[in-house]
Amino acid sequence: MHEASIALSLIGVATEALHQHGGERITALTVRIGQWSAVVPEALQAAFPAAAEGTPLQGARLSIVSVPGVGACPAHGPVELQLALGLRCPVCGLPTPTLLQGDELELDELELA
Ligand SMILES: [Zn+2]
Repeated sequence: MHEASIALSLIGVATEALHQHGGERITALTVRIGQWSAVVPEALQAAFPAAAEGTPLQGARLSIVSVPGVGACPAHGPVELQLALGLRCPVCGLPTPTLLQGDELELDELELA
């Protein structure tokens, strides 16, 4: 139930933004999730409605944008990673322990009402 707690923390961040902007409620939100984060988009999508109940996000539409992983290959620089290969350069196979992009979990857009 990892995703349920993620849903709750997103709702917390979104609610804070709502209060800063003086809105009443949030009708839609977009979240960017890296393919290399430990978050399963489907599970988050499923956990969201229950987590949003009784908050200003109740009934809000959740859109998830999947962010591909980009690793730093020692030979090739930034390369787009493939899930099947793990943290390795798809061109030369060297390990790319530094993830430049793809582990994010962030609120991208909010629609306020
Ligand atoms: Zn490489």
